[in-house]
Amino acid sequence: MKTGFIGLGAMGAPMAGHLAARGLLAVVDNRTRSKADALAAQLGVQAAASHADFAVCDVVALCVSMDADVLQQVEALAAVLAPGAVVVDHSTVSADTARKAQALLAARGIGFIDAPVSGGVEGARNGKLSVMAGGDAATLEKARPVLEAYAARITHMGGTGAGQATKAVNQVLVAGINEAVCEGLALGEKLGLDPDKLLPTLMAGAAGNWFLDKRGATMLANQFTPGFKCGHLLKDLRIVQGMARDAGIRATVIEQALADYAELVQRGEADADTSALILLKRG
Ligand code: NAP
Repeated sequence: MKTGFIGLGAMGAPMAGHLAARGLLAVVDNRTRSKADALAAQLGVQAAASHADFAVCDVVALCVSMDADVLQQVEALAAVLAPGAVVVDHSTVSADTARKAQALLAARGIGFIDAPVSGGVEGARNGKLSVMAGGDAATLEKARPVLEAYAARITHMGGTGAGQATKAVNQVLVAGINEAVCEGLALGEKLGLDPDKLLPTLMAGAAGNWFLDKRGATMLANQFTPGFKCGHLLKDLRIVQGMARDAGIRATVIEQALADYAELVQRGEADADTSALILLKRG
């Protein structure tokens, strides 16, 4: 099985590394070429000179930034992949983009799975991501050996777009948890509580969670290296806001998080980790 990987950022680079470790990776690409060249040299695979280099691949995985990036890559891959090949998209984008990508590829006999992931850069590095898959069951089976290289769990949620719908729900929880943890720790600072005692005490009780565990100590030390960029969460929240409006739910968590991350991005924190929200919570 030959796999290609496009988008070698905080998530994509370690995911590609797991594929290489299993002997599945043939070719990589990235918008900034130097990243692809460096990772290809490190992993002993090919850096694509053009999309034609992906023609040998049975599966091409994407982990790029935005909806337009996914569609740009899908259009280019539709022109070169063989019928029967599969494109798997791990980026967080709208369910509409997933459906457009699926239709573009289906016209050439190429399969598509929307497969957004959760678990953060730690999950990508450890190969323990939760994959939320949408699409045809037989197409997912073709891609499964690739997903197994970096997933702790692969769930087939339904037809095309169901993976992205699941990720939208995931991002509501992520945004709300971030609001609560950053606000709580900002309060803890003002109350003069010792973080070395506060963090393990909170983790041991009902308030314990992934974000507090992985980002609590670093945010209190004013370290905001991503991780997950504020700009990416803002993108996700805009997608989620549209879905929540259509669904008619009361979306106060989404609205608050949108306002906060828009402010952080305006303050020049787009590439900071989402835990930089504590900067606003300090008042
Ligand atoms: P990132 O560090 O910003 O990496 C994105 C990578 O994709 C960069 O290397 C970028 O190239 C490349 N890229 C963007 N547009 C491209 C295009 N049109 N063609 C080729 N390459 C392109 O982001 P990330 O944190 O890895 O996240 C990637 C996606 O996964 C996003 O949709 C994000 O929302 C989602 N996600 C992130 C996390 C997380 O914890 N970080 C978790 C789950 C899901 P450059 O080098 O030129 O920037």
